[in-house]
Amino acid sequence: MARTFFVGGNFKLNGSKKSIKEIVERLNQASLSENVEVVLCPPAPYLEYTASLVQKKQITVGAQNTWTKASGAFTGENSVDQVLDVGAKWVILGHSERRTIFHEDDKLIAEKTKFALDQGAGVIFCIGETLEEKKAGVTLDVCERQLNAAIAEVKDWTNVVVAYEPVWAIGTGLAATAEDAQDIHASLRKLLAAKLGDKVAQQTRILYGGSANGSNVASFKDKADVDGFLVGGASLKPEFVDIVNSRK
Ligand code: PGA
Repeated sequence: MARTFFVGGNFKLNGSKKSIKEIVERLNQASLSENVEVVLCPPAPYLEYTASLVQKKQITVGAQNTWTKASGAFTGENSVDQVLDVGAKWVILGHSERRTIFHEDDKLIAEKTKFALDQGAGVIFCIGETLEEKKAGVTLDVCERQLNAAIAEVKDWTNVVVAYEPVWAIGTGLAATAEDAQDIHASLRKLLAAKLGDKVAQQTRILYGGSANGSNVASFKDKADVDGFLVGGASLKPEFVDIVNSRK
């Protein structure tokens, strides 16, 4: 079954109206592959603005985090209902920066994921091991533990995209090799098959993230289980267009 190539742009805490306008206009003006799904994830204050600029059917907008409740006394949080209300379709959950800096654990992330899906958002669900865990040889155990937490909560995986993002590769300029990413992705797909059945495993997109850029994405092109990329730093630059078009 053909899985639509998926490229997420995680702007993190970067951008201004001026720079976001440049990024979206560059994509609007580029000739983009027909068969790609692009999700731009600006900081929450710019979601509606970003959505208003988009002129291509391949492009939608996503939040970088949402909470487990739609409303209430949760000062400073993002509601999934509210981000959907201003035009977002997706949310990134479980990003390693949320796990590390903001101490989000597997249980909270799984809860956020279930709630976001129930409210109608798509979820880019991030997993990945730290350098210490890689050195200790427990990469798969860590990824499986993180994924299993979501599997325990989420029954319908139609709107979930998994992003494998080794923490040591994020923002370091040191991406995983395409071969290593393929091996991990294939194992993750096996886990999905064992837990959720073949159909879900074959339908679910598994992205690679961590220093993906305009120069290295071509090396992932023939990797059967790499269905796209979650891009941080390079999503702010002109080379993002090349990443989007890397399966053209
Ligand atoms: P990077 O970030 O592409 O800058 O390494 C990826 C991410 O954090 O999603």
